[in-house]
Amino acid sequence: MTNPVRTRFAPSPTGYPHVGNIRTALFAWLFARHNGGSFIVRIEDTDVARTVEGAVEAILDSLRWLGLDWDEGPEVGGKYAPYFQSQRLELYHEAAQRLIAHGDAYYCYCSPERLKEMREEQVKHKQPPGYDRCCRDLGELEQAAKESDGITPVVRLKTPLEGQTRFNDLIWGDVKFENSTIDDLVLLKSDGYPTYHLANVVDDYEMKISHVIRGEEWLSSTPRHLLLYQALGYEPPQFAHLPTILGPDRAKLSKRHGAASVAEYREQGYLPEALLNFLALLGWSLDDKTEIFSLEELIKNFSLERVNKTAAIFNQDKLSWMNGMYLRNLTPEDFVQRSLPFLESGLPPQIKRPLDINYLRQILPLVQERTKTLTEVPDLIKFFFIEESDYPSDSLIGKGMTRESAIKALESARLKLVDLAVFDEASLESLLRPLAVELELKPGQLFGTLRVAITGRTVAPPLFQTMIVLGKERCLSRIETALARLRKPSG
Ligand code: GLU
Repeated sequence: MTNPVRTRFAPSPTGYPHVGNIRTALFAWLFARHNGGSFIVRIEDTDVARTVEGAVEAILDSLRWLGLDWDEGPEVGGKYAPYFQSQRLELYHEAAQRLIAHGDAYYCYCSPERLKEMREEQVKHKQPPGYDRCCRDLGELEQAAKESDGITPVVRLKTPLEGQTRFNDLIWGDVKFENSTIDDLVLLKSDGYPTYHLANVVDDYEMKISHVIRGEEWLSSTPRHLLLYQALGYEPPQFAHLPTILGPDRAKLSKRHGAASVAEYREQGYLPEALLNFLALLGWSLDDKTEIFSLEELIKNFSLERVNKTAAIFNQDKLSWMNGMYLRNLTPEDFVQRSLPFLESGLPPQIKRPLDINYLRQILPLVQERTKTLTEVPDLIKFFFIEESDYPSDSLIGKGMTRESAIKALESARLKLVDLAVFDEASLESLLRPLAVELELKPGQLFGTLRVAITGRTVAPPLFQTMIVLGKERCLSRIETALARLRKPSG
């Protein structure tokens, strides 16, 4: 019987999660869900100096918002709790002690100053950087002397000086490293905390992780980890290193490319399902052409065989496009509900709160088709609540029109609208189209002038539907405002 699939997301709380971190979490989650396995979240908080306040909450919030639920980890607990490395220090000390006892690790007393000088020398002589193994073979007496000087040592792995470390990465295939190029890495620091390498290996073993799925930047750490697994007598998990994510200019992904933290995407009005879909395609594809996947489809189709080695290119325009697709496909009511928090905070404060949801139910279908992010919605629909009369009055005068013909158009439209008994699309249509002919204008000219008068903008949702939602009285009063402005010469 094969071991159950158990994957983990093991973030260090050294910052807010960005697309790269979450792509890793997503792939590990998809692999677990596809295989009916478990997904574990483990917080790797052993680098005390780099820990950022609030980062753990931000990481968990991001996962929750995206719907990446975890079977074990913070808040939910689990068989291998605790899931914070800072609460598991004893385990790492035990492992380090065991390695020392078996001669696979040693105490190193070198001071930070000595290490710094050594590094400077190496750089000067163009030698590869690395510890010179000065303390690797200290005798007991020498050690005792250092101890009596009050130096707190670190613990280093005694890396084999010869041979190769090989493994079969599920994405990269056969990977080989010469042991002679691997440093005697530090396992326990002098502050008593383990390094990432030791804690990561001990926990992946203790938590029975079957597949380590992580970013390519860890590929070169894997031989070190394998040497540790070997020295500790642990069966290693399988490894899959996900391709790097680059900007369209093939430089390291950064804010400059539009990449933001997950919380920022949320604030910018992206839908979690759109972001997930977008992230899933950063390194994975089903058939190189399908772009839109529901979460169920992703789970069903995900496999590591279809993950590329070549760097994934982050394209912000594609994300916006995808978000627009998802927004268009929401039911009208869902679109209202998702827009609501953005409207509550984004519409001008003079508009009465809580907002009139029934009015919004009439307005929002008119803009759903052309919304790319939810943050755009308040501005798109503001004019339904307040008359915006700060547009340049010249924008009422369409191409090929004069001030006089614009005045005449608005005046005649006003007179006809006053008498209109039923204010619906069919009656507006049969009233205004013939009016254009009568005025010797193209329909587009008349409608353009009316659009600016009624909405204050040259680009707005479909005119007749907008007029119906606004109601006759408001339309008439806005036309009057426009007329007054046109008649005022300085306007
Ligand atoms: N704590 C590491 C990180 O923040 C985890 C790397 C790994 O998955 O092994 O990326």
